[in-house]
Amino acid sequence: MWKVLMPKKIVFGENAAKEFDYPKNSLIITTTTPEVYNKWIEYMGITNYEIYDKATPDPAIETVEQIQKEFEGKNISTYIGLGGGSSLDICKYLSKITGIPKILIPTTFGTGAEMTTYAVISFEHKKKLLQDEAFLADAAIVDPYFLPGTPFNIMRNSACDAAAQASEGYDSKIGNPFTRFFCKEAFDILEDAIINDKHELLPYGAMLSGIGFGNSSTTLGHALSYVFSNEGVPHGYSLSSCTTVAHKFNESIFYERFKRICQKLKFEPLKLKQPLDEAADVIMPDRGHLDNNPKEVTKEDIIKCLDEIVNGNPLA
Ligand SMILES: [Zn+2]
Repeated sequence: MWKVLMPKKIVFGENAAKEFDYPKNSLIITTTTPEVYNKWIEYMGITNYEIYDKATPDPAIETVEQIQKEFEGKNISTYIGLGGGSSLDICKYLSKITGIPKILIPTTFGTGAEMTTYAVISFEHKKKLLQDEAFLADAAIVDPYFLPGTPFNIMRNSACDAAAQASEGYDSKIGNPFTRFFCKEAFDILEDAIINDKHELLPYGAMLSGIGFGNSSTTLGHALSYVFSNEGVPHGYSLSSCTTVAHKFNESIFYERFKRICQKLKFEPLKLKQPLDEAADVIMPDRGHLDNNPKEVTKEDIIKCLDEIVNGNPLA
């Protein structure tokens, strides 16, 4: 048997965020600056709201608790996460502890976070991937309106993340016909969007990828990538080489196609400060990703993959 979880309501397309009927007295949580979000809020037509705009990347549990305290007693009806992955993650965690519903509106398109039961929150400066049904959005709004303002680098990292998630999710051992259907469709769309410069298709591809991998899992590529993230490499960028090498190791049907996507996005090779053996020790306990990998992975395999990532020019 298998089970599928999705937001209660998914609204997609042009004007989706504009035409949505927002509840009164909601709390908008965002990572951007007033000159950007004021324009967004005007487009969305929200007039009755509170705002928290001090969200930062890699949100810590302290931030979540501080927002809870700051807005306690203000009768907030709904949280609205508006921005990149971190504003959505804050909303997910807040909503779990307060029981207040949440509307998630991504503006960078790639993580698919608005579709999933996952959230990444830092505890004592360590990023933790959490999963909880309470993290599911009450409504997810995907509107390409937000795309044109996205800087190239963020667009490229998000696109790579979405393609990595779709293809790793397809190969995941806990996948099923439903997740493979969504992951395959997502990858086809993302590939077309990237290779043929049809960037307006990215939000749709990323959304489908979120539904697909969100109900299976990512695998070796993501497991390898975290040692690079720990050294400050953006998530999507670290996946360019990591997922390519992981797909080769797994003999994935997506190996050549994923590599071509990364070549098109012109990702540079990765470097690692940490010795490979130590990095492998950090990766090995990540059972959530490794146990779902289609092939069994030993520590020696991990070291070989890391060596190919940093010394083998895998995107050439
Ligand atoms: Zn990812």
